[in-house]
Amino acid sequence: MTDRKTELAANLAKVEERITAACAAAGRERESVTLIVVTKTYPASDVRILSELGVRHVAENRDQDAAPKAAACADLPLKWHFVGQLQTNKVRSVVGYADVVQSIDRSRLVSALSKEAVRAGREVGCLIQVALDAGESARGERGGVAPGGIEELADLVAAAPALRLDGLMTVAPLAGEYAGRERAAFERLMDLSTDLRRAHPAATMVSAGMSADLEQAVAAGATHVRVGTAVLGVRPRLG
Ligand SMILES: *Cc1c(COP(=O)(O)O)cnc(C)c1O
Repeated sequence: MTDRKTELAANLAKVEERITAACAAAGRERESVTLIVVTKTYPASDVRILSELGVRHVAENRDQDAAPKAAACADLPLKWHFVGQLQTNKVRSVVGYADVVQSIDRSRLVSALSKEAVRAGREVGCLIQVALDAGESARGERGGVAPGGIEELADLVAAAPALRLDGLMTVAPLAGEYAGRERAAFERLMDLSTDLRRAHPAATMVSAGMSADLEQAVAAGATHVRVGTAVLGVRPRLG
């Protein structure tokens, strides 16, 4: 193995151990949690190695970086998740490779995604990004809609051609009542997911937890964790 492959294999094994331990502690099956590796700022060659090591889900947050990377890795059996704030002028490009967009936070994005997904002949999975630090109807600092805005967006996605409502996503807030209380934030997201599933029973995905707080997310009931740094290393720049 190359040095990089050895390094990534070791990091993946550690993350796998953490997820397994967190599942055991929560009385959950390991299979109930899916690892998504966040490959932002890292090259396509790393994505290829991860695929060889058995990773099946990767995530990116900037279309400019993600589009060429996804094209370079089009031969790999990967699902691509888009997790960044998404401008409508990037939607056509993102629909070209993304299987799931986790950052749905406004109605204009839903209509733009639907239009482009229809045009591309693809179905795109959608998660509503919830901002637990936003006022009741506002949007969060790092994207996301306040809990009060979930229902309207979910109904829009569910009714939109070529879109599939898969569930909810959040990032643990740095400010507001949930700052430093990741477990409470993720439990709140689970409650919101329970509410959502009353009207949309198939929207079962709950995407929460990153390198620093994946245990809290698994304890709360997350179905998907998004891990970057713990697998790939500390990013050279903010991303
Ligand atoms: C970067 C990023 C992650 C991964 O964060 P790490 O701390 O590197 O594990 C997860 N989710 C989103 C939305 C991100 O932008």
